[in-house]
Amino acid sequence: MRNPIVEMDGDEMTRVLWKEIKEKLLFPFVELNTEYYDLGLPNRDGTNDEVTLEAANAIKKHAVGVKCATITPNAQRMEEYALTKMWKSPNATIRGILDGTVFRAPIVTKRIEPVVRGWKKPITIARHAYGDVYTNTELRVESPGSAELLFADKNGEEKRLNIFDFDGKGVLQGQYNTDKSISSFARACFEYAISVKQDMWFSAKDTISKQYDHTFKSLFQSIFDSEYKTRFDELNIKYFYTLIDDAVARVMRSEGGFVWACKNYDGDVMSDMISSAFGSLAMMTSVLVSPDGNFEYEAAHGTITQHYYRYLKGETTSSNPVATIFAWSGALRKRGELDSNAALVHFANALETACVATIEDGFITGDLAPLCKGEGAKTVDYVNFISSVAERLLPCA
Ligand code: NAP
Ligand code: MG
Repeated sequence: MRNPIVEMDGDEMTRVLWKEIKEKLLFPFVELNTEYYDLGLPNRDGTNDEVTLEAANAIKKHAVGVKCATITPNAQRMEEYALTKMWKSPNATIRGILDGTVFRAPIVTKRIEPVVRGWKKPITIARHAYGDVYTNTELRVESPGSAELLFADKNGEEKRLNIFDFDGKGVLQGQYNTDKSISSFARACFEYAISVKQDMWFSAKDTISKQYDHTFKSLFQSIFDSEYKTRFDELNIKYFYTLIDDAVARVMRSEGGFVWACKNYDGDVMSDMISSAFGSLAMMTSVLVSPDGNFEYEAAHGTITQHYYRYLKGETTSSNPVATIFAWSGALRKRGELDSNAALVHFANALETACVATIEDGFITGDLAPLCKGEGAKTVDYVNFISSVAERLLPCA
């Protein structure tokens, strides 16, 4: 590998999986070149979270990153890790620096049937990873009073709108987004749909949100008409907009096989619904694509805390490493593509094929056992699962 991949280590059970994947599936097969950042909570605390900023800037420099799941601290974690501060979610910090869109796609195998029987092909969720409720400003209203929306432009001109007159306690929230971010979200989605040659859906609630959501809808439409319509026509794929509730109903009745672009909150929620309906959170990949062409790969799930506590007691767990393996294969493939390194692209493909073959041969982790169809499946722990993948990779070495 000529150029490095930015490697971000993480926490708990996924940190354990991370090490095992590197030792069994990467070191023996590729000359790995990574720039390592330890985003494990103790090191984030020890560096005043500087390490997260450094990692994000390194992705800007090298264009490709792979990240292990990390703990987002809450009150209980403050105590558990004796933290100096309740650090922000590393993912939020990285997204804030890179901007961009998160694409989440389920890993589909013949052994696992989606809960929604009509779904034949994967559904990719494209989540706008910027703004809205994730960067809101909130206020707990403690007494009667009036709330207004105030915008003061650079020339000192002000616009004021009444929000609500409170006659008692309540809550208040301010949100924003920018045309720049929405437009790059739209372009990222259209580009992605073209790269996978799938239809693209976009949904929002413009009938209720006549300025905010309507802006999303109209920017998507004008960018599509002026920049992408011809290419979509050539590929015989479609773009269509519909209201979020109508989209949800249509998704359930669909066959799958499309990209569904969602606003930040909708994408957060819908990706968990899609992944669990396709099998398991552990079978969902995730990539953040930034407007200036940087890629950060990760598993969609968290650090699997409950498993980690059992692991620490010496118990075996049903932890599934597949999404974390696919985070690595995604990053390796992208590195290979950007550097015209065909051997690396070949290895990334082989790693995914070996992973799927392991499951289709019936070697599965406990989380998949209730979903697995066909005869002769054998539940194994993560160590044996990873060894089985390595055996299937050997012919590629
Ligand atoms: P989680 O780690 O995704 O786990 C939730 C449950 O989902 C697990 O208890 C397990 O169910 C199942 N699961 C998830 N991944 C699995 C896998 N690979 N193999 C088998 N089962 C899997 O979510 P959480 O417990 O809500 O969060 C734990 C920590 O992760 C939190 O500190 C949170 O901040 C962090 N988090 C990080 C990220 C990220 O870095 N991207 C994302 C989400 C959450 P069973 O217990 O039923 O087996
Ligand atoms: Mg979520």
